[in-house]
Amino acid sequence: MSASATTATIAPASDLAARRRQVVAALRARLPERCVLSDPEDTRPYECDGLAAYRQLPMIVTLPDSEEQVLAILDVCRELQVPIVPRGAGTGLSGGALPIHDGVVISTARMNRIVRVDAYARTAVVQPGVRNLAISEASAQYGLYYAPDPSSQIACTIGGNVAENSGGVHCLKYGLTVHNVLRVRVATIDGEIIELGSEALDAPGLDLLAVFIGSEGMLGIVTEVTVKLVPKPAVAQVIMASFGDVLTAGNAVANVIAAGIIPAGLEMMDRTSVRMVEPFVHAGYDTDAAAILLCEADGTVLEVAEEIERMKAVFEGAGATAIAVSETESERMRFWSGRKNAFPAAGRISPDYYCMDGTIPRKKLAQVLGAIEEMETTFGLRCANVFHAGDGNMHPLILFDANQPGEFDRAEAFGAAILALCVEVGGTITGEHGVGMEKINSMCVQFGRKELDAFFAVKRAFDAPMLLNPDKAIPTPHRCAEFGKLHVHGGAVPFPDLPRF
Ligand SMILES: Cc1cc2nc3c(=O)[nH]c(=O)nc-3n(C[C@H](O)[C@H](O)[C@H](O)COP(=O)(O)OP(=O)(O)OC[C@H]3O[C@@H](n4cnc5c(N)ncnc54)[C@H](O)[C@@H]3O)c2cc1C
Repeated sequence: MSASATTATIAPASDLAARRRQVVAALRARLPERCVLSDPEDTRPYECDGLAAYRQLPMIVTLPDSEEQVLAILDVCRELQVPIVPRGAGTGLSGGALPIHDGVVISTARMNRIVRVDAYARTAVVQPGVRNLAISEASAQYGLYYAPDPSSQIACTIGGNVAENSGGVHCLKYGLTVHNVLRVRVATIDGEIIELGSEALDAPGLDLLAVFIGSEGMLGIVTEVTVKLVPKPAVAQVIMASFGDVLTAGNAVANVIAAGIIPAGLEMMDRTSVRMVEPFVHAGYDTDAAAILLCEADGTVLEVAEEIERMKAVFEGAGATAIAVSETESERMRFWSGRKNAFPAAGRISPDYYCMDGTIPRKKLAQVLGAIEEMETTFGLRCANVFHAGDGNMHPLILFDANQPGEFDRAEAFGAAILALCVEVGGTITGEHGVGMEKINSMCVQFGRKELDAFFAVKRAFDAPMLLNPDKAIPTPHRCAEFGKLHVHGGAVPFPDLPRF
């Protein structure tokens, strides 16, 4: 793919006002006026995503109604060499939708139509700005739903889910976004539409759909998505099990999986999280426990009854101090409400919180939680831990007050140290929230030169002018060399891979 030659005289980047005027004029020549915002009063709501510690007013925000308008915006940006930041609902937690000061935001807020639900094929075709939960709501009449369920599903969009390869509580059994999307239509920087994947289970050629899912807005703009729908299980029940220490809880998680059970969800919360959430949602959690596990079974009545008994036996054998099983749907929802509201609950006990997102091998859980506890002392900040325990995806919530001098820096260093620890024990720096701009330095810890070069080669194949969400997700070797040092457990240690750059 190649970018078309630039024909316009481009206002210099140093003269932002002239550049804004030029780009606005070019956009307004192609789009209705209501689709182009440039007044700071109008663009302010787009200055950050869910990682609100980082803010940047964009030069221009566009709100296309259709695929044709997306292509028109891409044409203008390519001609005038303007960087582009795609945006869904802005719930991302890694700064992926953080604007660029001389860039254009493409918001999909107006592209929110469910094109069709095909109950026979068990698929739905939707525009990128459709909310995750809206897909399940539209499919409910057919007894179907869309399985990946980020806790933000009431607000986040399917376009954002595709870009982040989002997960949720039910992904242990039903898979992440990548396992539940059949096909995407993508507007490329060259101003063309390509289709990746197909309505069939497999497609010929290289699996570019898998490459695209999780590419964080750096390869193209998603304009339409075909998702798989699954039948709504007849029943679901959830066990809430308490444990006297996190090591025992961690072992119980491993035992469930080792017993051949695949729960519909398997989540863990430590005592700090439980005590943070309980006064907020009154989920009925055991506030004396060192950790609680929530473990769900779904299926037919008989399947669920049998699985719940097996799960209970595993937890009892693993040393659970208390076990409760939801008896009604409303009780099940109440048990989950605590876990699903963990992030907002953090906002009630701390002015600010920083949500990390790393993965670790399940067997390292107790070791990592112990190390995080030590880091709390080192960095002088509290940390609450919630955990997609079944798939080893942890979400430490670092609590801080941005108004206290130095606290944000310490929170950032604390977060980087946790991610470095995840890599050290054989895990990764992100499970589902993406890299964005937040974890770009941590990418230097996870990957070496060869891998980063390969990522850039893919980026260039889709986006030769490097205009789509630049400077996010993939660090340049230069950046890694500058980063150079990594704070682990409070002390600066040399970046181990530095000589390779
Ligand atoms: C309270 C809370 C709970 C959360 N829980 C979870 C969870 O359980 N699991 C989980 O995975 N995440 C979770 N998240 C993170 C977030 O909701 C997800 O990453 C979500 O997929 C982002 O969707 P969005 O529409 O808000 O995208 P945005 O934040 O707007 O954008 C995210 C990324 O996608 C890109 N993008 C958006 N639309 C497009 C498009 N049409 N084409 C190309 N690129 C695009 C953006 O450039 C950006 O890089 C949570 C966030 C919050 C605030």
